[in-house]
Amino acid sequence: MQRDQQIFDIIRQELERQRHGIELIASENFTSLQVMQAMGNVMTNKYAEGYPGRRYYGGCEVVDLSEQLAIDRAKEIFGVEYVNVQPHSGAQANASVFLAILQPGDKILGLDLSMGGHLTHGSAVNFSGKIYQPLFYGVNKETGRVEYDAMEKIALEEKPKVIICGASAYSRDWDYARIRAIADKIGAFVMADIAHPAGLIAKGLLNSPFDHCHFVTTTTHKTLRGPRGGMIMMGKDFENPFGLKTPKGETRLMSNLIDTAVFPGIQGGPLEHVIAAKAVSFFEILSDDYTTYAKQVITNAQAMATSFLEKGYQIVSGGTDNHLLLIDLRNKNISGKKAEQTLVKADITINKNMVPFDDKSPFVTSGIRVGVPAITTRGMQAEHMPLIVNWIDQLLMDADNESTITKVRGEVNEFMQQFSLYPEMGA
Ligand code: PLP
Repeated sequence: MQRDQQIFDIIRQELERQRHGIELIASENFTSLQVMQAMGNVMTNKYAEGYPGRRYYGGCEVVDLSEQLAIDRAKEIFGVEYVNVQPHSGAQANASVFLAILQPGDKILGLDLSMGGHLTHGSAVNFSGKIYQPLFYGVNKETGRVEYDAMEKIALEEKPKVIICGASAYSRDWDYARIRAIADKIGAFVMADIAHPAGLIAKGLLNSPFDHCHFVTTTTHKTLRGPRGGMIMMGKDFENPFGLKTPKGETRLMSNLIDTAVFPGIQGGPLEHVIAAKAVSFFEILSDDYTTYAKQVITNAQAMATSFLEKGYQIVSGGTDNHLLLIDLRNKNISGKKAEQTLVKADITINKNMVPFDDKSPFVTSGIRVGVPAITTRGMQAEHMPLIVNWIDQLLMDADNESTITKVRGEVNEFMQQFSLYPEMGA
């Protein structure tokens, strides 16, 4: 068959873009070469509806081995009793938990999107806000931190079926015990979506949700540094509270309901090639190298926060506990949109982001979100953070000056040459 040179040339262009630029999108990372190699394998040819040892197709005995390995390694990483590695994405993981525990029209309570929450936590444009009845808590205007008192008040008044914690743009740790105490007053479930800080939780650098939250969902491609995908975990499996029984009359465990919600509820055949790559990334997470990486992520984020503060930038909540910062640009007279567009011209990628109590639309925004997982994988240390902040500041303070942009882009491209990326793929 003729080689599709056109698409391989485009992939090559993307490799060069990744090599030359400073990647500060908080949800992105660079997988190892072996994770990518595992992803591009013959398992993409295999249908495997069902779960290891109980499939709806023949010939699954080999993919059973890798899916079981992925499950066992994830259990070891997080010290949990139940893992489902099949969700194709974080959104699918969340949809599966909701399908398992909710009926259409049930109330759900999550962090408002404009305060850092995720689309799947009840946004009006997402299935979660259309099928279920969304309620929101927020962050305090002064402290930028989650308002647990307000969460409790809404929960007691509205009695949602599930309280969702976790976020896409929140730089502080969570008080899972407090959330569980609120949920217990109304008999609600707690679901923690740890898509962003999962890698830091894996190494005990942030509070663990597993003792307090009934369900924990995550993506596998952010701080966890695996292939794009999702995963669902439970610290402890438990008897479903809905009184559902198996055909033999036995009480069904929650793990059965979650498995059934993923397949056949939300998805068809699992992506076994991606699951193999998840297994490889979990192998890497179990290593000491990854522990060093996760600690460096926090060190770098804090160093970056200090540099931004020194230059008079306002960081929501005043700093960070994890891998990201949310910067309110209102005192710098530049919108998030303009900042994103300007920085990308100099090969620095970030994303515009709403800040709490934003007066601009989600298409413009008053803020930017800056994360360090990807640059930490490239090998950057705390000493490199002031350099990056300096470039960002020069660009944002002179956003319409093409010669500043050209100068900084040249410096960025030269700087990045010392941090090799996929050298095996050639120059
Ligand atoms: N949950 C949170 C908190 C996220 O930040 C994201 C993605 O950014 C998701 C879920 C969704 O993940 P995916 O893009 O894989 O569907």
